[in-house]
Amino acid sequence: MNSKSYTLDGIGEVVVRKHHQARRITIKLRPGEPPRVVIPQLMAFDRGFQFAVEKRDWIADHLPQMDAALKSTIYDEERPFSTRYHMVRFRRCQTRCVQAVKADGGYEMRFPADTDFSSAQVQRQIRMFLTELLRHEAKVYLPDRVAKLAAAHGFRYNQLNVKNVHTRWGSCSARNNINLNICLMTLPEYLSDFVILHELCHTVHKNHGPQFHALLDSLVGGNEKRLDKELNKYKIQI
Ligand SMILES: [Zn+2]
Repeated sequence: MNSKSYTLDGIGEVVVRKHHQARRITIKLRPGEPPRVVIPQLMAFDRGFQFAVEKRDWIADHLPQMDAALKSTIYDEERPFSTRYHMVRFRRCQTRCVQAVKADGGYEMRFPADTDFSSAQVQRQIRMFLTELLRHEAKVYLPDRVAKLAAAHGFRYNQLNVKNVHTRWGSCSARNNINLNICLMTLPEYLSDFVILHELCHTVHKNHGPQFHALLDSLVGGNEKRLDKELNKYKIQI
């Protein structure tokens, strides 16, 4: 036996697990899973649980963040995912392994009948597929779109890179290399154009000074502030 479950007052299930590489006791929290205490192979399970008892306040503080992370990002049969071009549905059916197939002009990810969509592993599999789909769409769509907008407004840029980062929609380097987030493919086109124009304006003005804003605002019909607000409602995350 390598792990043992306990019940901790005010927390619920806590799992104590022995690990051959563990040198000391640690607690691990992951979305959708009970807190896990990892202990060295030769330590008694009860000692691991005692550690969780001592750290109860810390666990109670951090567990809600984990649950919040899970709640905001769960995909299941009722909650499909949309890119600008495809709807991705998730379905349980008679299949042995997870597969993604084209269906109804979009995609269907099929899971074995006993799949639990609340499991962190299933959500990871879904997210990996969605990331690849967005990356593919972004690589097909963004180079043309950026070239077109640059030509229409007389901007010149060096390289375009498509990235998956969680902090920003785009950036523009000192050498005028433009980086754009694959999550632009989850936005309506006018908002992704707004991000692209923002970065193209940085090829002329490197900071966010008055001249930068005047230029950008003139390119979006005086709607910069409104578009900024709209953009803030979208998450840069899958
Ligand atoms: Zn900027």
